[in-house]
Amino acid sequence: MKIDHKQLVTRVGDTGDFITIDQSKCTACGRCLVICVMNLWKKRENSVYIVSDYKSHCIECGACAQVCESDAIQFSYPAGGTGVVYEKG
Ligand code: SF4
Ligand code: SF4
Repeated sequence: MKIDHKQLVTRVGDTGDFITIDQSKCTACGRCLVICVMNLWKKRENSVYIVSDYKSHCIECGACAQVCESDAIQFSYPAGGTGVVYEKG
């Protein structure tokens, strides 16, 4: 059964940016594209980027930063009281 993650969470408050990528470190290996269940990472020629509206879809799992062997992705949990609220997990 396919799980629609969008049905599982709501988002509250203004998180600000909580994921950034250092292009100078990125090797375009594609690991972040493979691991992100929300499909928020994209490849364009030889660089990788996160979609501009990622804050509306990201489930704050941190997997992208975990799998990046180049330490190019900076992930930090949004401040308390903002971000995703799991309702049915
Ligand atoms: S996992 Fe890291 S090095 Fe690999 S494409 Fe993503 S950001 Fe770049
Ligand atoms: S934290 Fe998780 S859902 Fe958000 S961009 Fe990274 S892998 Fe995707």
